[in-house]
Amino acid sequence: MELINLMDSCIFCAIIEGDIPSHSVYEDETTLAFLDINPISVGHTLIIPKYHSSKINQLPISFATSLMQTVHTLTGPIEKAVGANATTIAFNNGSEAGQEVPHVHCHIIPRFEQDGGKSVHSLVESPSHPPLDFSDIVMSIKNLI
Ligand code: 5GP
Ligand code: ZN
Repeated sequence: MELINLMDSCIFCAIIEGDIPSHSVYEDETTLAFLDINPISVGHTLIIPKYHSSKINQLPISFATSLMQTVHTLTGPIEKAVGANATTIAFNNGSEAGQEVPHVHCHIIPRFEQDGGKSVHSLVESPSHPPLDFSDIVMSIKNLI
């Protein structure tokens, strides 16, 4: 497949093009996976689509689908390679969520007993929301799908 929609100023597009080196662990027509340069734990891997888009909700569905296929393919081998029984699999989707590189990427982070980390429920320290009305939220979301 032809590489489409890459962006000159993006470091992950440059990694796809081979202009910036990376420790690649897997590549196919639409995705690339490589070790994070600043790993949270041993084996911390990033999986990216070969399409420049900052957020997953802006990514064409075919690239989002193949990205998840690659996550599925790699999670077991990554865990086994580093002797982990668990992984945190996460997207920082937008700058408010901590995303620093504005090219969609999925983190696969091997987790170990007593690594001091927590679950995704620890991500937000100061939840800010009006009084919760679950049915309003459900309606709002459903109306936008
Ligand atoms: P974010 O905070 O955007 O979700 O995560 C970006 C990740 O990309 C960080 O974990 C950071 O260490 C990693 N990263 C940034 N630049 C490079 C690079 O040039 N090469 C590699 N392999 N990882 C990078
Ligand atoms: Zn890019």
